[in-house]
Amino acid sequence: MSGLKKEEVARYSRQLLLPEIGVDGQLKLKSSSVLIVGCGGLGCPCAIYLAAAGVGKIGLVDHDKVELSNLHRQILHTESRVGTSKAASVKESLNQLNSNLSITIYDTKFDQTNAIDIVKEYDVIVDATDNAPTRYLINDAAVINNKPLVSGAALRFEGQLTVYHYDSKTPCYRCLFPKPPPPGTVTNCSDGGVLGVIPGIIGSLQSLEVIKMITGLGTSYAGKMLLYDGLTGSIRNVKLREKCSNCAVCGDSPTIDGQLIDYEQFCGTPMCDDGKILKILTPEERITCQEYKETIVDTNTPHLLIDVRSSLQASIVKLPNAINLPLDVINRPNGLDSIKELIDSKKVDKVFFMCRRGNASQKACRLVKDNLVNCHLIQFKDIIGGITAWAKEIDQQIPIY
Ligand SMILES: [Zn+2]
Repeated sequence: MSGLKKEEVARYSRQLLLPEIGVDGQLKLKSSSVLIVGCGGLGCPCAIYLAAAGVGKIGLVDHDKVELSNLHRQILHTESRVGTSKAASVKESLNQLNSNLSITIYDTKFDQTNAIDIVKEYDVIVDATDNAPTRYLINDAAVINNKPLVSGAALRFEGQLTVYHYDSKTPCYRCLFPKPPPPGTVTNCSDGGVLGVIPGIIGSLQSLEVIKMITGLGTSYAGKMLLYDGLTGSIRNVKLREKCSNCAVCGDSPTIDGQLIDYEQFCGTPMCDDGKILKILTPEERITCQEYKETIVDTNTPHLLIDVRSSLQASIVKLPNAINLPLDVINRPNGLDSIKELIDSKKVDKVFFMCRRGNASQKACRLVKDNLVNCHLIQFKDIIGGITAWAKEIDQQIPIY
């Protein structure tokens, strides 16, 4: 016998018929193990193709719960599993397709305390996350354990794919990006949007890279990067910089070796994709949704509510009394004039700023308070948590996006 069970021969027959795979390749897949970090837009397509192809052991890392806003791209989750563990949800879908696999879930915060131990258990690591601290964490844990890392990214209509630390001669993520991006400069799907099929394509390509690696087929994306533009259909391959001899993790004398660092501190941003809530204003300069409703709205107190989100976001949902004046418009050279005109025309002495989650509104409030002349009698405040908090605490009919 070939070493494959009767059921396996039937299940994988179209793959077995490829001379490049054959029984040997199928047995390699069966005895291999892959860790997928992130059970979202990239992790779902990658996981399902690896399960379909017969990768014997799959690890799934994700600490998040399924949300309705995930379903347009995270296609292994279902409406009935909204609110449940993402890792468990993906496991259920994989089991339904192929019940022969060993699937381990890590429904836990993946961080410097557990990454090395988890990564150690697998042959190939897949980065299917979307934030800088986790990318550095996965990279360092993969390099320290000497595992290849298949990395993908997708945003708006574009995607990227590469393989880091394929072997000791090829670059790791840190070789290319020794310093993290300045906090606040990286846009993720949660803020920038993404068409669901883009991570679908990139996640599928990640699974292909994994299968090639396990079966020894073709050439890998080590040292080069695929750039996909979904709007033009163009696929470009660019050569990446060489491995860096003074890289902090894979260089000649690494400073990160065995002991991982604090990645949130290193990047200045948190690992969750909701973004950090900034502290720009004093507590006196802020107001909760509840307080704003009770003391201002319900009492019909004359005031101005300025919604500083983009007009696109305001078109999704907006409070009826809000005036949409995007932060980048306020930031323009004579942007403050429009606020002055609004205050003068409405004859109000109270101005409130609102945005999606309460960061842009703080920036707007600070900017206006510091720069608007003759306004010392006017009270400026931002609404804590923005329209998201309003939708959760005050009016549950308002959609959260
Ligand atoms: Zn490196």
